[in-house]
Amino acid sequence: VVGGPVGSRNVPDTGYGDVGGMDETIALVREAVELPITHPEIFQRLGIRPHKGILFHGPPGTGKTLLARAVARESGAHFIAVSGPEILNKYWGQSEARLRGIFAEARAKAPSIILFDEIDSFASARDAMSESFEATLVSQLLSLMDGLNSLGRVCVIATTNRPEALDPALRRPGRFDHEIEIGLPDAGARLHILQIHTRRMPTDPDLDLEQIARLTGGYSGADLEALCREAALACMRRTLNLRDFERRITPRQLAALSVTTYDFRTA
Ligand code: ATP
Repeated sequence: VVGGPVGSRNVPDTGYGDVGGMDETIALVREAVELPITHPEIFQRLGIRPHKGILFHGPPGTGKTLLARAVARESGAHFIAVSGPEILNKYWGQSEARLRGIFAEARAKAPSIILFDEIDSFASARDAMSESFEATLVSQLLSLMDGLNSLGRVCVIATTNRPEALDPALRRPGRFDHEIEIGLPDAGARLHILQIHTRRMPTDPDLDLEQIARLTGGYSGADLEALCREAALACMRRTLNLRDFERRITPRQLAALSVTTYDFRTA
C-alpha cells in the first residue's frame, strides 16, 4: 500500500502535479473517477450510473499506476493498491478471501479507489479457463464488482500492458466497461516529465531540457525518470548539464513508438 495514512485512511502522496504531459488524460480520469466520488449527486440527479471499473492500458512505465495514485489523492479517496502477481502468488490459498477483504475495506472506508496493477497476471483469457485457479479468482472479482452499488463511491481501476489478453468477461457492462489509453509521451509531454523529475535537482541555469526531450523519442516516463536519476548521480558535486543527459541517451527502436491501440467495442 502506497502513501501515508490520514487517520485510518490511506491517501497517496502524489497528485496531478507529479504527472507530466497527460493533461487530456487527466481530464478524462477526473470525469470518470474523480467526479462520481466528489459529486455523486450530479449522477443521481441525471440518473446516470458512473463506471464502477476503469481500465488503464498502454506500454510499461507510462504512468498508469502514478495516475491512479494521483486521482485517489485528488479525490480524497481511500486507496488500496493490489498487485496482480502478488494476489496470485503471495496470497496463494487465501486469494479469494483477500479479494473479499479488499472490497469490504473499500466499502467501509468509501470513498475508495481499488487499484489492480497488472490485472492480466491473473485475468487473462486462456484455454480450459473454467478449470484454473485464476478463473476462480476472476469470478470472485466479477461477483464482488457486480455487488458494488454504482453510487457507493467505490471505483475499481485496473492497469494492463496487454488489454487484448484479458478475459472478455471483465469488459462487460458494469465491470471494466470504460478504458483509458495511456501511450508513450510525445516531445512536449517528455519535456513536462523531465521538468517534474529535475525540479528538485541542482541544474545548470542554461540546461536545455527541450533538447533532451527531442533526443528521447520512444522513452517512457519511467525511462525519463531513470535518465534524470542516473545523470544526477553522476554529478554529485556540481550542477547538471546537457552533456550529463546526452551521453546517457540510448536510441529507442522506432517500433517502441507504436502505441497499443485496441478497441474493445469492436473486438
Ligand atoms: P507498468 O505498466 O510497468 O506497471 P506504469 O504505466 O504503471 O508501468 P508507473 O509505475 O506509473 O508506470 O511509472 C513508473 C514511474 O515512472 C513513476 O513512479 C514516475 O516516477 C515515472 N513516470 C511515468 N510516467 C510519468 C509521467 N507521465 N509523469 C511523471 N513521471 C512519470
